[in-house]
Amino acid sequence: MMPINAKITKIVDETPSIKTFFLDLTLDNKPGQFVMVWIREVDEIPMSPSYSNAITVQKVGDATSALFKLKKGDSVGIRGPIGNGFTLSGKSILLIAGGVGAAPLAPLVEVAGGKKIKVKTLLGAKTASELLFVKRFRSAGDLQTATDDGSDGHKGPVTELLDELDLRGYDQIYSCGPEKMMSRVLEMVKGANMASKTQFSLQRYIKCGMGICGTCSIDPSGLRVCVDGPVFSGETLIDSEFGRYARDASGRKVRL
Ligand SMILES: Cc1cc2nc3c(=O)[nH]c(=O)nc-3n(C[C@H](O)[C@H](O)[C@H](O)COP(=O)(O)OP(=O)(O)OC[C@H]3O[C@@H](n4cnc5c(N)ncnc54)[C@H](O)[C@@H]3O)c2cc1C
Repeated sequence: MMPINAKITKIVDETPSIKTFFLDLTLDNKPGQFVMVWIREVDEIPMSPSYSNAITVQKVGDATSALFKLKKGDSVGIRGPIGNGFTLSGKSILLIAGGVGAAPLAPLVEVAGGKKIKVKTLLGAKTASELLFVKRFRSAGDLQTATDDGSDGHKGPVTELLDELDLRGYDQIYSCGPEKMMSRVLEMVKGANMASKTQFSLQRYIKCGMGICGTCSIDPSGLRVCVDGPVFSGETLIDSEFGRYARDASGRKVRL
């Protein structure tokens, strides 16, 4: 699949570390699928669209820093959509989002709202100004926030909000965010016998994005995040490397 040229039509500052880049093309993805974004002369990186024509990016390293330097009228290459995406089902759903992990979940709640599915979102970030898409989640349903410093909502990890909920009361649970956060979600849904009804979107290091290089394979199944995921059922992730280690650019195991 060759990258398609996409021009940046608008850039929105979402938080101090996150920007949304609107593009002059429709990405045509299901929520949770991703595209490979080619930042010319730098790198090609995976991003899950946050709107039908936009990606929302947190600046963490070389490629995302280079993307942040682009202006309206500059262009990137887009390959995709790739992967499976979330499967929406049931009448009442719960979402647990951490940091930029809210990016693929915001379009999912909007699709759910259109289908009259009842939505509750637990949204976490380091601090109030880093909470992403608060308005979008609030207008789709019930929203509870958590921040590490207590500047908005519950003070502490967003997963602590799960203690107050009866997880079995939801038809389906969705989560995206830092893997340590998601592995705590997995422990809790496993305890509530809900692992098979919970979908996790994994943000692993992806190189080829077409299932060839194996960089994003998960032990012991060998499932590849890029083509078999990036969304996996909790049941698939139990007893895997998930939450314990991942692989870096050279394929070396890195403890989480
Ligand atoms: C399916 C998928 C969807 C994604 N969607 C989004 C999105 O919508 N918005 C967004 O901001 N990011 C998203 N990411 C993560 C994003 O791809 C990485 O942050 C990006 O590749 C980092 O590139 P870099 O060159 O700036 O940083 P690097 O220089 O490669 O790394 C900088 C730091 O970030 C860490 N890092 C690198 N890649 C990843 C990764 N894939 N996941 C977690 N940590 C990583 C490195 O370990 C290092 O600590 C997604 C990842 C995947 C796999």
